[in-house]
Amino acid sequence: MMRVMKMRGILRVLVFALLVTVSFVPMVRDADLAKPHVAANESRGSPPVDISKTIADYDEFSVGNFAGTEFSNLNLSLKLNEVSSTVEGNLTVDFYNDDPVPFSQIPFHLYPSGMLYESRQGNITVLNVTTTSEPIQEMPYSVLWEQQLMWVNLTDSLLPGERTEFHIEFITTLPDGLDRANVHGENGNQSRIYTVSSSYPIPCVYDRFDGWNTDPYVGFGDPFYIDMAFYEFYLNAPNDMIVAATGELIESDSDGESTTYHFDPILPVREVTFAASRYYQMESANVNGVNVSSFYLPDSQPEWEDDVLEWASLTLTLLNETYGVYPYSTLNVVEQHGFYGGMEYPCQVYMTRGVLERVRAETLFPEYLELVVVHEVAHQWWSQLVGDDCIDWGFLDEGLTCWSHNYYGEVYYSDWEYFQYYRYLDTVRTHHEEFEIGSVINQSNYERPDLVGYIDYTKAPLILEKLRVEIGHEKFVESLSHFFRQNYFEIATLPNLQEAFEFVCGEDMDWFFLPWFDNPFLPDYSFVGVVYNLTDGTLTISVEDLNEGSNPYSYSQQVLVRVDNNFDGVLLEETVWINGTTTFTRLVSTRPSEVCLDYEDYVLVDLISYDVDSLSTQNIQIVGTPSLTNLWGFLPIEILPAIAVTGIVLVLVFYVFINRRSGNATW
Ligand SMILES: [Zn+2]
Repeated sequence: MMRVMKMRGILRVLVFALLVTVSFVPMVRDADLAKPHVAANESRGSPPVDISKTIADYDEFSVGNFAGTEFSNLNLSLKLNEVSSTVEGNLTVDFYNDDPVPFSQIPFHLYPSGMLYESRQGNITVLNVTTTSEPIQEMPYSVLWEQQLMWVNLTDSLLPGERTEFHIEFITTLPDGLDRANVHGENGNQSRIYTVSSSYPIPCVYDRFDGWNTDPYVGFGDPFYIDMAFYEFYLNAPNDMIVAATGELIESDSDGESTTYHFDPILPVREVTFAASRYYQMESANVNGVNVSSFYLPDSQPEWEDDVLEWASLTLTLLNETYGVYPYSTLNVVEQHGFYGGMEYPCQVYMTRGVLERVRAETLFPEYLELVVVHEVAHQWWSQLVGDDCIDWGFLDEGLTCWSHNYYGEVYYSDWEYFQYYRYLDTVRTHHEEFEIGSVINQSNYERPDLVGYIDYTKAPLILEKLRVEIGHEKFVESLSHFFRQNYFEIATLPNLQEAFEFVCGEDMDWFFLPWFDNPFLPDYSFVGVVYNLTDGTLTISVEDLNEGSNPYSYSQQVLVRVDNNFDGVLLEETVWINGTTTFTRLVSTRPSEVCLDYEDYVLVDLISYDVDSLSTQNIQIVGTPSLTNLWGFLPIEILPAIAVTGIVLVLVFYVFINRRSGNATW
């Protein structure tokens, strides 16, 4: 009896141990490993913002009430000469000084001479600058051709909060390249379009970072940085032309040969643009009070008809609900010729004929048409309503816009990566391996001109998505909406974005913003020690970030850690904050054979290939001595089946032996 009991006891323990090791996966939350509060080494904050005031501005501005807020007033008249590809212009500037310093001169951008051309270079010739009050007098000015700049010298110093008015008469020659302003296409095949953008003297922006921002038209990224102003926009074009322009068409008047249109955006805008063609076809729809229109060439009808209007309308509806109000009454999507995919201006965005041609040639995926429309319309929120210095902070508006067009993909196609022919995640994780260079997001385009495309359109939106993964969708979207409302009709920077996230999340966000926006390299994790202790069954895992010494800030991100046993399967599966070089200890039920960091779910690390999605090691050091409570941790798991089989055989032998003895007794 005693022996039977003893054998049964061992069998029970064996079976129990097998069951336990197979099924028990500890899900221990770690109390001592949490997201750190990184102290900023340097202050990046802006001056304190009066949140209640700016949000109150949003409430008023979004319904068109700008009472009590001053802007410059620009009255612009343009006359398009079709034959000479020139535009005669008159600009009356009622300039408001909203900066804290007096001005004796005001600089204006003369962008067209910096634009690409084939045989006819763009140019703005300033004919004169005069006072507006009687007696009208000439005002001194100087044009700096190399910088594409005009300085208007004021007769009196313009104090903060004061206004000055003058008149500029000019003539613009439109370049014949494929840049933002151009004349291109043929009448023979009904493809000729005049695109007139950034083609009049545009006042420079004064800010606390640079003073006057007089940057010329640069070839990397968008070169624009423009303040909001009220506009009255008059445009004269030959009678047969269809005109698409910024603002509401107030009236038009024909003299038999040409028509003068009066466009008015009603609310402040950063600039105005127009495109004209004899061949434009037009569609319109009213979307929640906004007159959305598309203008396209006859040959583009198969792709443009209905769809472009639909995509623009869906974007408008989604982003209105997500971020805040698009307050203008018109929004145009217009076909143009250009070397790029599309370009954004207030109330009017362009998609190039080149996109369509490449889609037809199957060198671009078909969804690219929709991508460009959604992207450019999303710029109405990021770069237009919330402005930025596109040279020094270009990653901000492009990053937010790219995140937004991917969000459209998520909402309407259930996939944030829907438009990513090359996944941002793959591109960013292998960028260092492929190009052997680091890439800091938070830099001026001047500091890394070759990386503008990669930073603005891939890395920046991916880092924003990373932020969503870390803090959750609700807080993320609420923070963007807060940022939008707080900087509505103003200029924003990265610290303003961080402030909005800190306001909504209620915590210091340096732990995220400093490393992800300012470090040149992603983390590169390596196991520096994995130790299993036989005495107490604990597993201590040390992960080192090999790139930590090359980056100014330590990264923090959540990584799924998995501990496996060849026989039992998963012993541990837990999301752990890896804060730079990190060591953590967990109890596991048996001796592990492999430890793995799972890189799916937007863990950002340097990888050597797209295919790699984890880091694992079988190099596990064993220490300590086995104790009774941890017996099964001591036994190598591979021999457990042998022990079990041996036990079962012994039981059977014993059973037969007992039965024989019983049989002998009765027979
Ligand atoms: Zn863009």
